[in-house]
Amino acid sequence: MRILRWILVVFTGLILYAAVNQYLFCPQYSFPRHHPFAGTSIFNPYEHADSVNWKQCNFHAHVHAWGGLTHGSGTAAECWNVYDSLGYDVHCISDYEKVNRYGEGEPNFIPAYEHGYGMLKNHHGVIGTFRVNYGDYIFPQTLSNKQHMLDCLQENDSAVIAINHPVLRNGVSPDDFLRLHGYDAIEVLRSGTHSFPQWDSALSSGHAAYIIADDDMHDSSRPNEVGKNCTWIHAQSATRNEILTGLKSGNAYGMIIASPKGETMQQKFQRFKSGFPKLNSLRITGDTLKISLSATAHAIRFIGQGGQEKFMAQQTATSAYYFQPADTYIRIQADFDDGTSIFLNPVFRFDESVQQPLPFINQTRTALFRIAGAVVLLIFAVAAFRLLRKTSL
Ligand SMILES: [Zn+2]
Repeated sequence: MRILRWILVVFTGLILYAAVNQYLFCPQYSFPRHHPFAGTSIFNPYEHADSVNWKQCNFHAHVHAWGGLTHGSGTAAECWNVYDSLGYDVHCISDYEKVNRYGEGEPNFIPAYEHGYGMLKNHHGVIGTFRVNYGDYIFPQTLSNKQHMLDCLQENDSAVIAINHPVLRNGVSPDDFLRLHGYDAIEVLRSGTHSFPQWDSALSSGHAAYIIADDDMHDSSRPNEVGKNCTWIHAQSATRNEILTGLKSGNAYGMIIASPKGETMQQKFQRFKSGFPKLNSLRITGDTLKISLSATAHAIRFIGQGGQEKFMAQQTATSAYYFQPADTYIRIQADFDDGTSIFLNPVFRFDESVQQPLPFINQTRTALFRIAGAVVLLIFAVAAFRLLRKTSL
């Protein structure tokens, strides 16, 4: 009986501590209103892009790890083989909370891991670092929890921080994206889940968040798990520095790759050899955007503030759009007949003299919350002490 009470006290204590740590000890942030993109200049991430140097990448793949405790099967070698056979230039393994060093000697090796183990899958893709952050908030996260985790991950040198699959379990909502700051990219495309409302919410509130498109693959032997989405990055070579620079500067775009049902892996290898439609160029002349693609799209859509479609051109490989005074950003989507789609990063207004306000830690509120947390733990400690003393008498 006595041992049961000890187990009960320790178990309850651990749960209570995790909750108090998450909801009361976590720094409490204030989120000043972020403003939509504004200014007379227009930033074009593709200004220096040409039609040739596009590198095909996947940054999210899981293999057997942690003794099989986490979701992922197959070896790192098998995963590398499959993506090499598909013709990818860069393919990261992103084990949970662990950097897989397979292929470390290769020029296209980029260390990466997936951060997060909470109930609502608030995961981050951390790309370009060997330093792993093991902290997380396991219960449904408040906005302050989410911002604090981003700030903790930011301490990691020059790595790219992506908010992974935000739509999954509504882990990061469109409303959250109005306020969160301190990440480089959003995994807008992942397996079958798409997060366009979340992306447009970030863009509509003036956050220069760039797209990442990933497989989030868990078994490289299954043709319906690999080669579903990819990120194309403009880079002279598929090396860590160039790829990370392309991701951080937005000189990249996402793609949904057509996936015929029932296709075998060998058929997929063959199909990928014939290549994909690509971005030839995106130029701004005056206030007019001109896009040129390598193949005819059945629709080229120009999407702006609030995710609203502004214009659509049909059955063409080139199109133009006049960037109107009221436009804050424009992102382009091109859909092809076989089911492949391209999603470009936004072109947006900016004014170098205007600084957007950033989230900051509200010291008073944080102190009050922490005092409340200490009181809760103290009450629990006194109650636990009395309970255990009673049983030992
Ligand atoms: Zn995940």
